[in-house]
Amino acid sequence: MLKLGMVGWRGMVGSVLMDRMKQEDDFKFVSTTFFSTSNAGGKAPEVPNSDPILKDANDLDALAACDVVISCQGGDWTKAHFKPLRDKGWNGYWIDAASTLRMEKDAIIVLDPVNMDVIQKGLREGVKNYIGGNCTVSLMLMALDGLIRADLVEWISSMTYQAASGAGAPNMRELLEQMGALYGVVAEDLKDPRSAILAIDRKVTEELRSTDFPDKAFGVPLAGSLIPWIDKEVEHGQSREEWKGGAEANKILGKPAIGEPGCMPVDGLCVRVGSMRCHSQALTIKLKKDVSCEEIERLLAEANQWVKVIPNRKEDSIHELTPAKVSGTLSVPIGRIHKLNFGPEYVTAFTVGDQLLWGAAEPLRRMLRILVDFKA
Ligand code: NAP
Repeated sequence: MLKLGMVGWRGMVGSVLMDRMKQEDDFKFVSTTFFSTSNAGGKAPEVPNSDPILKDANDLDALAACDVVISCQGGDWTKAHFKPLRDKGWNGYWIDAASTLRMEKDAIIVLDPVNMDVIQKGLREGVKNYIGGNCTVSLMLMALDGLIRADLVEWISSMTYQAASGAGAPNMRELLEQMGALYGVVAEDLKDPRSAILAIDRKVTEELRSTDFPDKAFGVPLAGSLIPWIDKEVEHGQSREEWKGGAEANKILGKPAIGEPGCMPVDGLCVRVGSMRCHSQALTIKLKKDVSCEEIERLLAEANQWVKVIPNRKEDSIHELTPAKVSGTLSVPIGRIHKLNFGPEYVTAFTVGDQLLWGAAEPLRRMLRILVDFKA
């Protein structure tokens, strides 16, 4: 039985991962040691075949005793421990939610419904590092799997509407505090249906601009507003989140890097909005040839079991294609599919996905199961 080390299991991504692993009985197939950076010696979660005591996540010898390490602990921990562990001669499998190792030559970005062939080739060739992709990129590829598989995509522009959870647990709390603060300043006015909406709006705007407004995590208001920049600045006016779109999508698909012949250009603007844990994306796709919308829908729907084509009608769209509907599920709906006025090869679509499930935890637990099968 493979020996699994779990690091970062009580964080936000780690908790979602634990829930999914329990639901899918993943712990039955491995023997598990849980690690902690803050509570070594404490009580570990109760799962089948597991050590009841938490080990120290800074103890390289304890980590080196594992055949597989899954980490949701964060990039700083990966930076501090991955290389020293490899330098010690550890040759186990490393599965990680952090972005630190994603673009390394000896790492594969895992999203098996889309790139099982790349993963299997990596396993056969002895690749040992399997890293979860950026949430937005993974969700886009899950949704567009059918078109990409049919080699119909020339390029993609993705304009995103990203959830607070992508910024971390404190940001999710702050979004709700911001909502509460805005409601608080007009709660009395709202009770009176005759109160003037412009007066209410003025109070809300004053609160948004007040120095007391709770914005420690985001730095600016998100509730009642949006944030048109995610992550650091990189070259060419892009944010790092936007850069990841092209860089990671091509790596996941095993294509040449952005800018090289044969790559699939992906670009757009990434925007934070006030949704809790679902990222949405408005896509413009340039096809390699004119294909009917019926054929596009058929290809998308058949690509994997999680993608769901929503008919391009108002009632279906407003009920089925929203964060409120998708949150907490593995479903990846895609809808609003129609041709744009620019020409028959230009298609638009809108897709939504839970960024903590397919966007973070699910590809990691599935990679563990792929490894278990590979080693059997
Ligand atoms: P997180 O919630 O901050 O958890 C990381 C660690 O913080 C935990 O494992 C825990 O370690 C410690 N911790 C300290 N106080 C805690 C508390 N009150 N509750 C729970 N844990 C606490 O990190 P995360 O947002 O899950 O992100 C983990 C990694 O996944 C990051 O590299 C991130 O970039 C990546 N990722 C995140 C997302 C996302 O949407 N957030 C998506 C994809 C990938 P100890 O148990 O050792 O104390």
